[in-house]
Amino acid sequence: MSEFIKVKCAAPDCESTFISNRFGKKYCSDQCRWRVWSRLRRDKRKSNGICLQCGKGEQVANRTYCETCGEYFKKYHEKKKK
Ligand SMILES: [Zn+2]
Ligand SMILES: [Zn+2]
Repeated sequence: MSEFIKVKCAAPDCESTFISNRFGKKYCSDQCRWRVWSRLRRDKRKSNGICLQCGKGEQVANRTYCETCGEYFKKYHEKKKK
């Protein structure tokens, strides 16, 4: 009886297969797991109209971030130019 099974990574953009001995392990690496998870979080926020940056404020019209984050970006870019 072997507890080792060959499974394909559950990330849609990853073709890796790996040997798993841990029940429930779906991704070949933490990078894949993190990538899928952060994408899900992003999509959820997007459809809820919540800022993709902080996940707290509501999105400004036609933007993916809230007013607070928008101000922060503006300042950041102005700083960068100088
Ligand atoms: Zn993978
Ligand atoms: Zn925000």
